Amino acid sequence: MSAVAKLDSMLPQPHEVRQVTRETPDTFTLTLQPPKGVDGNAFLPGQFSMLWVFGVGELPISISGDPAVPDRLIYTVRSVGQATHALVSQKAGGGVGVRGPFGTGWPIDAARGRDVIVVAGGIGLAPLRPVIYHVLRNRNQYGRLIVLYGARSPRDLLYRKELANWARQQDTQVLTTVDYGGIAWHGHVGVVTTLFKYARLQPARSVAMICGPEIMMRFVTRELETHGLKRADIYLSMERNMKCAVGFCGHCQYGPHFICKDGPVFPYESIRPLLEKYEL
Ligand SMILES: Cc1cc2nc3c(=O)[nH]c(=O)nc-3n(C[C@H](O)[C@H](O)[C@H](O)COP(=O)(O)OP(=O)(O)OC[C@H]3O[C@@H](n4cnc5c(N)ncnc54)[C@H](O)[C@@H]3O)c2cc1C
Repeated sequence: MSAVAKLDSMLPQPHEVRQVTRETPDTFTLTLQPPKGVDGNAFLPGQFSMLWVFGVGELPISISGDPAVPDRLIYTVRSVGQATHALVSQKAGGGVGVRGPFGTGWPIDAARGRDVIVVAGGIGLAPLRPVIYHVLRNRNQYGRLIVLYGARSPRDLLYRKELANWARQQDTQVLTTVDYGGIAWHGHVGVVTTLFKYARLQPARSVAMICGPEIMMRFVTRELETHGLKRADIYLSMERNMKCAVGFCGHCQYGPHFICKDGPVFPYESIRPLLEKYEL
């Protein structure tokens, strides 16, 4: 990357907030509109932006919209602290600064012609939703699409209408589970790995993409290997605190990698020894 390109990538572009919709009690989806004349919003599924809430701070958020519709940027944000709370409290007509997109994407080219297994926990479905859109939009280029999704409780499930709609698509299997059901829940209860026994897996012809809490990703990789998936066919998205997003500051260092530029999506093989170390 040239020095000029790096400087450009440090300048947030003001975007207008067009819509804020509630997904769950603490999670909201924001639609942002770039200023007229600004292009360059094309993104790869799995990439993220740095979103700057004026007067509060800047934070990395994955793009959760359809990569085939890049004229609006869509993000799904869980309110966990000051900056995320300020983001989800935005109103239509407000403004947010955007830098990016940054980082590596999911292996949609390597997955062409193969089954795609998407495994998500909680807010981890947000960075994987663009892959699901992409596969469904290019249905004849991929084999079976299997989505395994776990949330804490039924009210924490993201994109409920879309999950139901995806489940009706050709060659697509969508399985959801929750940690705690409650009396109105008639679905599956248990951690996401308990869904594997119901999944119509064809391990030798599959590529798996995983995003969720690290403990969940450790168990999912083991489960996939037990089912016969090759390590080279498993990819994960990692999360660490981030400041510059272009590999300058070192905040997101992960062993020899910087998550902002070498990730967030990594081949499992390249980070397996790090993932095995807790609290790294
Ligand atoms: C590449 C990348 C992509 C990301 N994509 C998304 C996304 O699509 N949607 C989204 O909501 N978040 C996403 N995040 C996480 C998001 O950037 C952080 O949640 C955010 O920086 C927290 O900022 P804050 O000021 O609100 O909270 P802080 O004030 O920094 O933290 C408040 C409290 O919440 C805890 N906390 C912080 N982050 C998390 C977390 N992720 N999960 C649980 N507890 C947390 C902290 O330990 C602290 O106790 C992503 C992070 C990375 C690195």
